[in-house]
Amino acid sequence: MAKRKPEPEPENPEPQKTLNRGDSAERDTTPENPEESPETRKWSLNDFEIGKPLGRGKFGRVYVAREVKSKYVVALKVLFKKQIEKYNIHHQLRREMEIQTSLRHPNILRLYGWFHDEERIFLILEYAHGGELYGLLRENTCLTEKRAATYILSLAQALVYCHEKDVIHRDIKPENLLLDHEGRLKIADFGWSVQSKNKRHTMCGTLDYLAPELVQNKAHDYAVDNWTLGVLCYEFLFGVPPFEAESQKDTFQRIVKVDLSFPATPQVSAEAKDLITKLLVKDTSKRLSLQKIMEHPWIIKNADPTGICNN
Ligand code: ATP
Ligand code: MG
Repeated sequence: MAKRKPEPEPENPEPQKTLNRGDSAERDTTPENPEESPETRKWSLNDFEIGKPLGRGKFGRVYVAREVKSKYVVALKVLFKKQIEKYNIHHQLRREMEIQTSLRHPNILRLYGWFHDEERIFLILEYAHGGELYGLLRENTCLTEKRAATYILSLAQALVYCHEKDVIHRDIKPENLLLDHEGRLKIADFGWSVQSKNKRHTMCGTLDYLAPELVQNKAHDYAVDNWTLGVLCYEFLFGVPPFEAESQKDTFQRIVKVDLSFPATPQVSAEAKDLITKLLVKDTSKRLSLQKIMEHPWIIKNADPTGICNN
């Protein structure tokens, strides 16, 4: 993985209620109370007690925070308007925030709402207590087949939901996958970083997770996310992404050629390799569909359908 950064240890508040579950929030989201829903309610910084920083990204910082009245623990992502202006992503950001607010799936991080002041935009996000999947990968190097299959199934289910809503993520990678307090996978940053992507990928980001049609700037569709599941599955099991190389140029070439090989160690089952091989296919029409991923023998045999597998 190309993106490496220090991982702050969040001080763990108790596993929390979330805004869509508890009493007041539940009331808020009923149609009888439309102005009161977390999305449309007028939030301000005074509604939150700010806790520890959880991390920082390209456009700002993320803090654990607690809504004063309900005591709900959330993650507050602070973006600086100057930065948003500098990269000219204001419209994109707004559109994608609206998309993410509308998505409701157990494996997609909720965006409850947002507000702003003079200099900053604040996103009220579901708090992922378990942090980045990236941290876990680094700790364990590779995941067990059971855990890897559980995550791939969770991702496939979340993507079925998104693709039905005409949403393509295009930027799924371990840094954008978070874990909740039970160990359930949550896709974060739902698409809204898309516009800044070209810059990032050519300048300092990683190509590792991108499908051949994306790195070559060709027309693309939902199948780009399916490719990424193949890359992730490989990385979960072998500890490195399949097309990793010294330079971006070499990674680019390996992706375009689909230069795929499996190391002798660690030992990985033939069924897992079969799934990866059927996902990392250049011809998008021959790439395995999400439905077929969910029915694949390796998934059936290994994945925990609850989405929770902590060993
Ligand atoms: P990018 O700017 O490309 O999105 P990023 O994903 O690293 O980069 P942020 O989304 O700003 O940046 O998040 C910074 C870090 O904060 C994440 O890597 C993660 O460790 C932590 N974080 C972000 N959102 C949450 C959340 N909802 N719950 C817990 N931790 C979070
Ligand atoms: Mg992020």
